[in-house]
Amino acid sequence: MRILVTGGAGFIGSHYVRTLLSGGYPGSEGARVTVLDKLTYSGNRDNLPSTAPRLEFVHGDICDAALVRELMPGHDALVHFAAESHVDRSIDAAGEFFRTNVVGTEVLLDAALRSGVERVVHVSTDEVYGSIASGSWTEVWPLAPNSPYAASKAGSDLVARSYHRTHGLDVSISRCSNNYGPYQHTEKLIPLFITNLLEGRPVPLYGDGHNVREWLHVDDHCRAIHAILTRGRPGEIYNVGGGAELPNTEIATRLLGLCGADESAVIRVADRPGHDDRYSLDGTKIRRQLGWVPQIGFEEGLRETVAWYRDNPAWWKAVKRADTVDGTGAVVPVEEGAGA
Ligand code: NAD
Repeated sequence: MRILVTGGAGFIGSHYVRTLLSGGYPGSEGARVTVLDKLTYSGNRDNLPSTAPRLEFVHGDICDAALVRELMPGHDALVHFAAESHVDRSIDAAGEFFRTNVVGTEVLLDAALRSGVERVVHVSTDEVYGSIASGSWTEVWPLAPNSPYAASKAGSDLVARSYHRTHGLDVSISRCSNNYGPYQHTEKLIPLFITNLLEGRPVPLYGDGHNVREWLHVDDHCRAIHAILTRGRPGEIYNVGGGAELPNTEIATRLLGLCGADESAVIRVADRPGHDDRYSLDGTKIRRQLGWVPQIGFEEGLRETVAWYRDNPAWWKAVKRADTVDGTGAVVPVEEGAGA
């Protein structure tokens, strides 16, 4: 099997590729992988092995139709992670979100169709559903995205749906809750808090910190994606919910404890515009149809994530330096906060 993975140098995509190459998905041990990644501020070539017998790395843009059409033939499957992924950046400037997330998805699916690619997974997010006061979203819940990021992902989901309904492309959509784990960019809530605390700096909490997110370890998310790739049904959407629902204040408290800091390290900052109150997925379908269940408890996963950042300062210090020195992306100073 030959798989084209877009965004494979990012947080989740690189976890998926590393696991695939190390034989971590039973039945797919011999899979060959092509990674297509633009290496934006959030993509990092060092997240992948520099050389591996079954890995080819292509530095390029998913919106480049000529490149994508040339690259696609010969692949059996496409797993599409590439996206602009940070809500705060989409509030500052949304154009690149719609270009990459919507137009880029169309370019990929068009090329997949033309090349006869047999199976596609489009990796999406629970944020397309908006915010839910009580209960949990099932896959038939109406789309009501609130941030430009979420709107661009909802747009990409509709592109995927249309390619299935109109052209019969064998594509499934995954909608996952918030991920955490090693190699996550330091602009996101958990790694920002950990790395600031490890540096003895304060951590910025949006508003009153009551916003509830559902947390899933990246390893469990990638296992779900591979289950969807190999056993999911064409045209179907699968919610991938972690079940660990916690307010941001609780995340802060746990990270303070794990990093040996106290409440005085928390500074309150003005809330994010349009900040969703609560996300909650009903994950019954993927459990019943594909037998997927999360394997990593939140307490254990968070402890291991803190340990990884503690043990890998060179990785995250380079990421933080790139954000503040070379101007490739918006700087996220500590006063501005970070959301999930
Ligand atoms: P990330 O920002 O860490 O990685 C994105 C990757 O895509 C980077 O390697 C980047 O260089 C690449 N990329 C961006 N624009 C590109 C383009 N035009 N062409 C080619 N490559 C491009 O993001 P992530 O957190 O790993 O998220 C991956 C996917 O999972 C996204 O589609 C995101 O919407 C989805 N998702 C993320 C989470 C989460 O909590 N992080 C939760 C649910 C779903």
